[in-house]
Amino acid sequence: MANLVNNVASTVREFGSNAAIWYDGTEISYEELWAQTGAFAAGLRERGIDAGDRVAIYLPNVPQFVLAFHGTLRAGGVVVPMNPQYRSREISHLLGDSEATVVVTLADLVPVVEQVREETAVEHVVSVGGDAEGATPFEEFLAPGDPDVVEREPDDVAVQPYTSGTTGQPKGVQLTHENLSSNAKSAAELIPEGCRPDDKQIGVLPLFHIYGMTVVMNVALFNGAAYYPRPEWDVEDAVSLVEAEEITIFHGVPAMYNDIINQPDAESFDFSSVRMCGVGGSGIPAEVLRTFEELYEPKVYEGYGLTETSPVTHFNSPLSGRRVGSIGKTVPGVDSRVVDGSFEAVPPVEEGPVDEDEVDLDEITGEIVVAGPNVMTGYDGLPGANAEAFTEADGKRWFHTGDVGYHDEDGFFYVVDREKHMIVTGGYNVYPREVEELLFEHPGVADAAVAGIPDDRRGETVKAFIVPTPDAEVTEDEIQEYCLERLAAYKHPREVEFVDELPRTTTGKVQKFKLAGEGDD
Ligand code: ATP
Repeated sequence: MANLVNNVASTVREFGSNAAIWYDGTEISYEELWAQTGAFAAGLRERGIDAGDRVAIYLPNVPQFVLAFHGTLRAGGVVVPMNPQYRSREISHLLGDSEATVVVTLADLVPVVEQVREETAVEHVVSVGGDAEGATPFEEFLAPGDPDVVEREPDDVAVQPYTSGTTGQPKGVQLTHENLSSNAKSAAELIPEGCRPDDKQIGVLPLFHIYGMTVVMNVALFNGAAYYPRPEWDVEDAVSLVEAEEITIFHGVPAMYNDIINQPDAESFDFSSVRMCGVGGSGIPAEVLRTFEELYEPKVYEGYGLTETSPVTHFNSPLSGRRVGSIGKTVPGVDSRVVDGSFEAVPPVEEGPVDEDEVDLDEITGEIVVAGPNVMTGYDGLPGANAEAFTEADGKRWFHTGDVGYHDEDGFFYVVDREKHMIVTGGYNVYPREVEELLFEHPGVADAAVAGIPDDRRGETVKAFIVPTPDAEVTEDEIQEYCLERLAAYKHPREVEFVDELPRTTTGKVQKFKLAGEGDD
């Protein structure tokens, strides 16, 4: 029998008086966290919410997210995290599909839920930060009592996040107690000295997304560390919190690291208290990593994973010999392979990273597939999508990541790009990431993305979208010449557009479908 909350329960026994959450100067200790998650669980029970019922959390990073998350699990429920930037159209699909009966949200977002409530199974709306018509304030929803943790089987679903829906409707990813707790354990083992009870972890990654969720819910809180949530990403706010509170753990997506190094006063930031920086969600350009590490003390360790894999499958940990440019080795307990279209293993290169312009990528790359206790049971109610997502081979159930990559003889893996981002121009394959990496090295480029745009003659044309560094007087000709000198001619951007900013998701991924002017990513 299992429940993720049991891990928090043992933290409470060991480190009860430690701060679990710090929010704008107010501390919630582990004992208080336990009491409040118990009160939330009791509130759910009092309203007839049973084991297996779904509770949607539609909140930014505020303490109540954590309380409702663990309160729901403690009552045996399933958490459905929803992006707080979503509005009626998006939440109507998530609420309808998951059949959530409770929604916890900001008072300001209650009208959005009310707009779609009739089409869903929602019976209770809980408001955070004030009263709202149709909702019960969070504090009034809590009920007295200290209920026992409702035990669940390891393969019972604990959390059902949704894919971002860039390819069709968002899919509900069923993650079990075993998926999440096994992955939290593997990830913690790879952090130098583990995650410690004296650690202070800033929460700039959104909690609704698996990366932000797991490093807090399943790693920090299982180890007695303190969590410092920030409701939105703001460089100044984040840096001043790091400096004032002497934050020790910082996890971010590449766009956040790029924002930090591009601040005019970046050289004055003090990251000396930080002992561990993690990055993932998309590949970090080598230039961004190098500049960050030159400016500040901590090294940045890259991880790789997907929502469907709870999430971490690879980690470039110093404990297994970090190799810059790689996503690292497969984490303990997880298997991964690089396979071709017939599911035959693609042999490793001798040593990576390779110069992608010097090799025949088709020969050394394939799709990265993974298997292990962290891999989701499947998409909820979507047999067709599940059939496409998995291949049974050698007694294992392999999940297709959709990422193109290669590996080397030392066991390091490298992501070339997402398969669906590959540009086919005049019969040649171009992976945008290689061109982006080069653009980041240009001093006049603060941010960049490359996408394929439709072209009558070549099928697609490589186009670069560039945010210039302030005061840089970089031109289209200069960028093209710079790329032509360093890359095979067919890879150079035949079109260059200078923009003020790139369209990104809340998790910092460039929305390439918007750049390409298509309806899909
Ligand atoms: P959807 O799957 O609906 O498009 P999404 O992109 O938001 O949504 P996630 O599960 O957040 O889904 O992202 C997983 C993907 O993120 C991986 O398949 C990979 O393409 C990318 N990714 C994550 N970490 C890295 C990394 N370190 N390097 C390169 N790519 C990464």
